[in-house]
Amino acid sequence: MFKAPRGTADTLPEEQPYWRYIEEKALETCRLYGYGRINTPAFEDAGLFARSVGEGTDIVNKEMYVFKDRSDNELALRPEGTASACRAYMEHGMDNLPQPVKLFYFADIFRYERPQAGRYRQHHQFGCESIGDPSPMVDAEVIHMSRNFFLSLGLRNFSLQLNSIGCQNCRPGHLKKLIDYFAPLGPRLCGDCQARLERNPLRLLDCKKPGCQAAAEEAPKSADYLCDECGAHFESLKSYLQALGIGFVLNHRLVRGLDYYTRTVFEIQPAEGGSQSALGGGGRYDDLITMIGGKPTPAIGFASGMERIVLNLKSQCIAVPQPAKPAVFIACMGGDARVEAVKLAAVLRDGGIAVISSSGERSLKAQLRLANAAGVKYAAIIGEDEVKAGTVMLRNMETGEQQETQPDELLKLAGSGQ
Ligand code: AMP
Repeated sequence: MFKAPRGTADTLPEEQPYWRYIEEKALETCRLYGYGRINTPAFEDAGLFARSVGEGTDIVNKEMYVFKDRSDNELALRPEGTASACRAYMEHGMDNLPQPVKLFYFADIFRYERPQAGRYRQHHQFGCESIGDPSPMVDAEVIHMSRNFFLSLGLRNFSLQLNSIGCQNCRPGHLKKLIDYFAPLGPRLCGDCQARLERNPLRLLDCKKPGCQAAAEEAPKSADYLCDECGAHFESLKSYLQALGIGFVLNHRLVRGLDYYTRTVFEIQPAEGGSQSALGGGGRYDDLITMIGGKPTPAIGFASGMERIVLNLKSQCIAVPQPAKPAVFIACMGGDARVEAVKLAAVLRDGGIAVISSSGERSLKAQLRLANAAGVKYAAIIGEDEVKAGTVMLRNMETGEQQETQPDELLKLAGSGQ
């Protein structure tokens, strides 16, 4: 028996109302903030991610699904959405449009991670990118938007974690301090962190191993090493957030796992679950477009994992709207009745009425049991007598009352929802 690959999941019909609810809230949020939808391919040139997310990151080094196609092109299933949106921005000359250009997407994301609750090898993100404006007002707006998106879903008890990791000018000074601080601790760090010390010292700060976490607590903070411009940007952002009444937690260990971030980084974390279970996160990436061959273009974005949201909706017992039950079940007995059943189903559906139609193979009792299980209001029963009279026997499933009815009356009745 085949099974879905490890770390992937089927989303069955009974789960779909959660997804639909999230998508509707996301669409409404994007309408309010002026974002336009973009779809990009599920795979891209692997170099796009190597250059933007970064060669030294876990995502590119360990987690990316890379493959060669039959023409020997090296491709990767997208391990995140931002690089693709930026590639599309450049490819379609969106830099000629009024800035910022605001894009959003729903995308499946592929990372070869160790599967666990809320962590998949294929997951789905709702993401937004505001490209072309350096102002901290935009940072505040993106953070406001992400927070309001979660609030609109009914989620509560989450915190906004905030940090600034500076820019190309000030980050090297901070990295040097980090290396000076961590190097003497060498053997006390986990194997990954010892390697990170050389490759990607910032990532030492968000290691999940208890020993490294304790060491990271006292490490030099990026916010203490910001250049004047980055410092002013961070101060302005904080004042906008205060003006908006958005509480935040300054978290100097928040660095995020992608190389392209500059200045602002943030995460929305549920009260329970800690940093491994972030509901969403994002940040500014002013260098990304130059990393992939474009001209300097400031930008900021945010992404959230749909599976994580579903988990939180369930744990917070938030009820989501369920699809309406079909109105009519058509039961039939005998060959001629089947023809009438097929015709009646077509007439009702043409009239906009949802119908479940039985193939009439089982007894009437069994068919009515199916009608009951489907939660319909009416069963329309067609037997030999009804075929002769050109009528249907209409059974109200709530009261059990039955009456002979003309098909067009049924159409009116079911259509009026009575
Ligand atoms: P990232 O692209 O790593 O910034 O992730 C953005 C958001 O996607 C996270 O805050 C999570 O909500 C979600 N996410 C990231 N990785 C996974 C995963 N492996 N499985 C499920 N959701 C994920």
